[in-house]
Amino acid sequence: MQITEIYKSLQGESTHAGLPCVFVRLTGCNLRCTWCDSEYTFQGGRKMAMEEILAEVSRLSPNGGLVEITGGEPMLQERELVSLMQRLLSDSYTVLLETSGERPLQRVPAGVIKIIDVKCPDSGEGDTFHLENLESLQSHDELKFVLSSRADYDFARDFVNRHKLAERIHAVLFSPAFRKDATGARDASHCLLDPQELAVWMIADNVPARLGLQLHKFIWDPALKGV
Ligand code: SF4
Repeated sequence: MQITEIYKSLQGESTHAGLPCVFVRLTGCNLRCTWCDSEYTFQGGRKMAMEEILAEVSRLSPNGGLVEITGGEPMLQERELVSLMQRLLSDSYTVLLETSGERPLQRVPAGVIKIIDVKCPDSGEGDTFHLENLESLQSHDELKFVLSSRADYDFARDFVNRHKLAERIHAVLFSPAFRKDATGARDASHCLLDPQELAVWMIADNVPARLGLQLHKFIWDPALKGV
């Protein structure tokens, strides 16, 4: 598999936020979100065999725990990835898969918790979510909407209500997008959408979603990689 990095940090963007987690970041993405902070994954990386990846995960987290498969878009390497996720599950890890949902997700093992980042209009990649993936949702899965405007919020709220997502999955997350050139101060001034404004909208609409902040951006310098 082509891998950009494997490292241990705290999970930052789901209901698992705050927990120690090993991240396996796969190289390559077929989308180009305007606010993407992972452009360094688009190329490069290095080829790693499955046993090599498993050994590194085990070195970083020898007693099980949380492993997040992320990217880039991990499902671009679906054939090898499905086997890797099966091995991690059988080794007793809790496995999260962060994906845009642009690729079919039917082959993702049932034990994997999918965190699907549905792209909103202002990402420049709206309408890329593969609607048939709604059929693959399980009660432990989470859907995330990264928002940078009122138009994005309206899209996300309507999508959640139209597909009755709150009744079908573990959590729906609304998260303000971060400026991709953010550096220095670890505060909300880097958000493209003010979290306070978003909170007011969510309360007014009684939307069945939870506000999520990208925890890692508030702990470490937003420009840092591998954290
Ligand atoms: S899907 Fe993720 S990695 Fe790909 S461009 Fe969008 S934010 Fe970046």
